[in-house]
Amino acid sequence: MYEGEGRNETATPLKEIFPLADNLALFAITVGETVSSEIEALFEEGDFALAAMLDTVASEATEIAGIIAERRYLEFLVSERRNFGESTVLRYSPGYCGWHVSGQKRLFEFLRPEEVGIILTESYLMQPLKSISGLMVVGRREIHDFEMSYPFCENCRTQECRLRIGTIMKR
Ligand code: SF4
Repeated sequence: MYEGEGRNETATPLKEIFPLADNLALFAITVGETVSSEIEALFEEGDFALAAMLDTVASEATEIAGIIAERRYLEFLVSERRNFGESTVLRYSPGYCGWHVSGQKRLFEFLRPEEVGIILTESYLMQPLKSISGLMVVGRREIHDFEMSYPFCENCRTQECRLRIGTIMKR
C-alpha cells in the first residue's frame, strides 16, 4: 500500500521505518464538516481575525484527535496482548518526507473513510479540510530516529521531523 501510485521518492524515512515496526495501523480522522464550513463562511464574510482564530483552533483540535487516536491504538494493542506497552507510536502521512500525496488514493481505497464523512478530491486533498490520515507506526523509540540526509530535506523549511523525534525520545 505504501507504494501507492508509484510516485514516492526512492528513499524515504518511512520506507526504512515501517519494516521495523511491531504493529501498524492506517488512520483517517476528522473534526467534521461543521467547523470547516464555519471557517469558510467567516472568511467569505470578511471576518478574517475570527476566521483565522477558528482555523488555528480547528487545526489544533485535529492534531489532538490524532494524539488521542495514537494513545487508544496503543492501549488497544496492550489490552489484546499484541504489544506489551514498551513501544511508542508515531503517525506518518502521505504528502510528507518523500511519501507522495497520491498515496492517499490507495489508503482511501483500503480504509474507506467516506463512511465517517471524509472524501478525497482529484488533487488528493481531504474534505473536510480539517482531517488527517496516514499510518500509525508502533515500535521501539529508536526506529523513528533518522538523519536529515534525504535529497528532499534540502528544500524543507520546517524540519518538523526534529521536533517529532525529540518529542518521542522523551516519552
Ligand atoms: S528535514 Fe523535512 S523533509 Fe527531511 S525528513 Fe525532516 S521533515 Fe521530512
